Amino acid sequence: MDNGSGHPTESGAPTGVMEGAVAPQAAGSFHTLGLSAATLAAVDRAGYTTPTPVQAGLIPRALAGIDVLGQARTGTGKTAAFVLPILEKMMHPGRPGGPRAIVLVPTRELAVQVKDEFEKLAHGTKIHCVAVYGGKPIKGQIDKLAKHPAVVVGTPGRVLDHMSRGTLTFGAIEMVTLDEADRMLDIGFRPDIEKILRRCPDSRQTLLLSATVPPPVQKLATRYMRDPEIMDFSVNELAVETIEQRYFTVDPTRKFDLLERLLDREQPRQAIVFCRTKRGTDKIYEKLARRRSRSRDRGAAEEVACIHGDLSQSIRDRVMREFREGSVRILVATDVVGRGIDVSSVSHIVNYDIPEFCDDYVHRVGRTGRMGREGIAFTFVSPEEGPQLTRIEIRIERLLKRDEIEGFEAFDRRPKPAPVEHVPTGGFQRAAAEAAAGEAAPEAEEPKRPPASAGLGKGRGPKRHRRAL
Ligand code: ADP
Ligand code: MG
Repeated sequence: MDNGSGHPTESGAPTGVMEGAVAPQAAGSFHTLGLSAATLAAVDRAGYTTPTPVQAGLIPRALAGIDVLGQARTGTGKTAAFVLPILEKMMHPGRPGGPRAIVLVPTRELAVQVKDEFEKLAHGTKIHCVAVYGGKPIKGQIDKLAKHPAVVVGTPGRVLDHMSRGTLTFGAIEMVTLDEADRMLDIGFRPDIEKILRRCPDSRQTLLLSATVPPPVQKLATRYMRDPEIMDFSVNELAVETIEQRYFTVDPTRKFDLLERLLDREQPRQAIVFCRTKRGTDKIYEKLARRRSRSRDRGAAEEVACIHGDLSQSIRDRVMREFREGSVRILVATDVVGRGIDVSSVSHIVNYDIPEFCDDYVHRVGRTGRMGREGIAFTFVSPEEGPQLTRIEIRIERLLKRDEIEGFEAFDRRPKPAPVEHVPTGGFQRAAAEAAAGEAAPEAEEPKRPPASAGLGKGRGPKRHRRAL
């Protein structure tokens, strides 16, 4: 995040464009949202009985033609919240020539997921959706676009590519959706998005979905949306009661052993192990696969896979498919790719490396406990990373529970780690109080990052706070 994880706008405090945000409505029935019988049948077929709050809030407004900026954490059903109104609109005749709706997403995986949701909900209609994203030969996409799909979903880079080739035109666009807008801006898609938006007719409707609304997202909304209605569904986003969150303190050299012991103890239905780097992801994957292939259970090695941005698109697609189908049980992933993963049977998240940014923590943990299912997240913390853990706790307004594996030596017997001040309980409250008091804490700051304020006052990070490690 270019604003850092602790930007005040993420605190839920009303700032700028978020002022006057509409409180989320209680979810009721899909029948009261203004959807046609055909669309209701599709919803029914998809097995959705009750709209999620973001769907209940967004759908009626989107159907009314209003521009909406919806802020909601991952796993809250945002895809159907914009797919259903698009479908509804596409059932009425529109201008000929080019697609009528376009959805921009940050990653290839998300493009595929959104397209799948479209196909699921558009089943039995003549409304077609084509996904365009990099890493796949452009020719096949050109052929599909030539068949005039009503809806195109894609990553901004590839959409622009098609635009410059003339294989995609924007003159007939009635609806633009920016999904995961914060992430798209994070990874540098702003110029591409702006070029695309400028090509779309002014009369279009724009929907913007984002987990957070930092200033760059606000600016985009102010510039390219028409008097948008702001709906903030994030108020309770972090009180995800179904997700238990724990941490282990561990020496960096003992992390892999801890991972193995933890997987043995937990026997996860499906787990994602998050690493900070692509190389680290590869390494952990290789070690896991190797050790498991030596184990008595000969199928165990195949149950492990890894995914990151350096892998070819066909490998990424295959891994995601196997993970979704359940043949891959343990997926080692980086943040960028792991973020969009929507596999509702993920029971365990392991933050093998503590996330660099607090928002990444929220996103990683949001991979489990999807749609109210139970989930558990573990974070490995080295003694030096105590301040990062504290910052995460301030961000999520919750203390992580400390966990231990019986008989496991989390530290080498050799030189002990630097002694840390023991704060038996209430480290979070204390950090919060100090943060609120506005004290500077140079030693608690991460490099290259603005100070964390994390929703508990505009102060800087905790002063001389030492995590109870
Ligand atoms: P988000 O985009 O907010 O991260 P998704 O749109 O990916 O969330 O939805 C998460 C999961 O919830 C998906 O598997 C989706 O099929 C499912 N889902 C969405 N809406 C509903 C609903 N109303 N009832 C049940 N499941 C739903
Ligand atoms: Mg989504």
